Amino acid sequence: MRAEIIAVGTELLLGQIVNTNAQYLSRGLAELGIDVYYQTVVGDNKDRLIEAIGIARGRAELLVFTGGLGPTLDDLTRDALADYLGRGVELHEPTMTKIVNMFAGRGGSFVESNRRQALLVDGATPLRNDTGLAVGNALNVEGTCYMLLPGPPREMKPMFDNDGSAWLKEQLGPASALHSVMLKFVGIGESGLEDLLIDLIREQQDPTIAPYAKEGEVAIRVSTKAGDAEEASRKMGGTLAEIRGRTAAYLYAEEDVPIEATVVRILTEQRRTLSLAESCTGGMVSELITTIPGSAVVYLGGVVTYSNGMKTSQLGVPKEMLEGPGAPGAISSETAAAMAEGMRKAADSDFALSVTGNAGPAAAEDKAVGLVYIGLAERGRETRVEKLQMSGDREGIRLRATKRALYMLWL
Ligand code: ATP
Ligand code: MG
Repeated sequence: MRAEIIAVGTELLLGQIVNTNAQYLSRGLAELGIDVYYQTVVGDNKDRLIEAIGIARGRAELLVFTGGLGPTLDDLTRDALADYLGRGVELHEPTMTKIVNMFAGRGGSFVESNRRQALLVDGATPLRNDTGLAVGNALNVEGTCYMLLPGPPREMKPMFDNDGSAWLKEQLGPASALHSVMLKFVGIGESGLEDLLIDLIREQQDPTIAPYAKEGEVAIRVSTKAGDAEEASRKMGGTLAEIRGRTAAYLYAEEDVPIEATVVRILTEQRRTLSLAESCTGGMVSELITTIPGSAVVYLGGVVTYSNGMKTSQLGVPKEMLEGPGAPGAISSETAAAMAEGMRKAADSDFALSVTGNAGPAAAEDKAVGLVYIGLAERGRETRVEKLQMSGDREGIRLRATKRALYMLWL
């Protein structure tokens, strides 16, 4: 099924808001196995909307609209579609009751224009709006599907995820839903991973194998169309096993979770604690860990020791290690180890990670841009240090060093 997303709103054309709904819908439709061929943006103008519907109908079987379902006169999407189809509109009583009750509850008087939010194009299936008033519409007219969703993302997203997706699955019928497994890796770049799997990627047909890279992590998505999960896992099993075998050293999850979530989950299971001593990442490791709810159970805390002085006063890194003739310097294996050990003792944690390096743009201590050392001190074990030479800009180096530091906990 080919789809076109039509985002409606003059604000979008004026650049006042970003079309995040189109991105969300594109991703969601892809997950359902629906190919989005076009994204269109059109202003709050009925003639142009009708024109856009006509064009989209000629090149897609599913038209998903977002925006223009509200109460005001510039909210025209429903009217435009009804006109285009030569249909009327009908009142959706449950939505009308909800609107009337809401106004009564607020003690305000009902404004007639709000009635518009309870209208359905004749014959449309209502899509429940749990976070707002306007009811969504979905209809199949002679093989072309139309779906009308509200503009505000907090209304659009749950409507699409719940009733919208359910309706689309019905239209698609069995055997065509897209099933996929996301494999997540750290400690290897996108091209390195591709090298390991190049023959599989070249020869792929069904299941498909698609690499992704985002925010310092790389992922591979293996997908197939199938009637149910059992059929899907049968179709994908062989490919998944082959990929697992080749990438075991880097694979950390088989679902779309960031590494920080996996770290928190595993430490929680093991009842072990972590502390952090960061230099070039400036607290990013701490920031990522604390985005995960429940991290307080495993993460004791950390310090950002950006200067040599702080590395010595906070972590006990010997001054002679940091400065002076022949000293290894702050960006060194010795310092990374000393930072991690100092931190672990101070926090009395099971693990302590340290990061020290040069994120650029200029060389520091005569050390190359992108040279990063990550230390891992563990209770009762010898401290390990990993030396990395990363490429890219400052933000990229910092982010990848952050993710890689978390990955050290696996090694
Ligand atoms: P309302 O009842 O709020 O009027 P609506 O369905 O009529 O909802 P619009 O009037 O088109 O939707 O947009 C309302 C608001 O929703 C916009 O001001 C904007 O903040 C957000 N919005 C609309 N379209 C998009 C979009 N494509 N991407 C992201 N946000 C959007
Ligand atoms: Mg509106």
